[in-house]
Amino acid sequence: MDELRQALAGLHLELPRYGLVAWTSGNISARVPGEELMAIKASGVPYDELSADAIVVCDLHGHAVEGTLAPSSDAATHGYVYRAMPEVGGVAHTHSPYATAWAIHGEPIPCVMTAMADEFGGEIPIGPFALIGDEEIGRGIAETLEQHRSPAVLMRAHGVFTIGATARDAIKAAVMCEDVARTVHLARALGDVVPLDPESIEALHDRYQNVYGQR
Ligand SMILES: [Zn+2]
Repeated sequence: MDELRQALAGLHLELPRYGLVAWTSGNISARVPGEELMAIKASGVPYDELSADAIVVCDLHGHAVEGTLAPSSDAATHGYVYRAMPEVGGVAHTHSPYATAWAIHGEPIPCVMTAMADEFGGEIPIGPFALIGDEEIGRGIAETLEQHRSPAVLMRAHGVFTIGATARDAIKAAVMCEDVARTVHLARALGDVVPLDPESIEALHDRYQNVYGQR
C-alpha cells in the first residue's frame, strides 16, 4: 500500500506540471488491485506539500479506512466510478481552463483532428450538471462514458473527469483533453470546423490503440 501511495503522490505532480490545476484543485485516484479500495489525494493539500502521507486509502463509497486525513471532496465520485466501471483502474479530475470552458458552454468537443480520433475515438462528451460531494457526479460520469469511447467527460459547469486502466492513463487523458480543447477552440476562432468522417475516425483510433508506439 505504501508503494501505491508513493506512486500516486508522484503522479499528482503531473497536474501542475501540465498547467491543469490551480491552488489545491484537482485530484487523482487509483484502484487498489484486488481490493474494494482506492487511494486518493487528501482534501485541500497544496501540490508542493503532497507526499505519500497525503494520499488517503478509502472504500469505494469514499470513506477513509486508515489515517486521520479527510479524503478529497470528490472521493465519493471516484468511488462510484470504480464500482460502476470494473475495468477502470485510475480516475483523474481537473478544472483545466480550455476543457472547462467547453464544459461551461455545454457543448461536446467535436472530433475534428486526428489526435482526437487517436486518443478519444470520437467527440469528448458533456455530462450532466450535479452538485459536488455525493454520488450524483459519479453516476453522471459513468452513464456518459458508457455511451462513448472517450476516456474523458466534460461535466457541465464543473470540469474534466478522465478514466484509464491505470492512474497514469487517466492523467494522460486529462492532459490530452486540455490539449485538444485548446486547439479546437483556436480552430473555431478561425472559422467553421468540420468533424472527421466516421470511417477515418475508426481507422485512426484502431491504428493508435493497436499499432502506434513501442510494443
Ligand atoms: Zn471539481
